[in-house]
Amino acid sequence: MTIETLNFESKVEVLLAQVREELLNRLRYSTLSHENDIYQNLAAHPEWDWVAHLRDKSGPTYKDLVDKLERLEATQCQFDLGLFGFCSDCEEPIEAARLLEDVTTQRCGQCEMNLKAR
Ligand SMILES: [Zn+2]
Repeated sequence: MTIETLNFESKVEVLLAQVREELLNRLRYSTLSHENDIYQNLAAHPEWDWVAHLRDKSGPTYKDLVDKLERLEATQCQFDLGLFGFCSDCEEPIEAARLLEDVTTQRCGQCEMNLKAR
């Protein structure tokens, strides 16, 4: 494993912790009681189950955060599988600049362009 990959991996860990904390805080201190309930439920659920739980229970105001959490978890999985940094379409390495901009990027520049052109 290269130093660069390790840096990306620790970045994902940090971002994951931040997103989880933001979700917990928003739900916990929400003025809506059903959101406080979701907070209680999350605290009782293992972290890997949060995305499914939040998709089911939390409304559109949380969609962006839940999407972000899901992308980060998927990226974390890719480290475990040794697939991090490879394009999901063509399987070539993703440009470092793209990963530096967004560590959860799933495609190389070329495939991203192809996707948008579709
Ligand atoms: Zn590609």
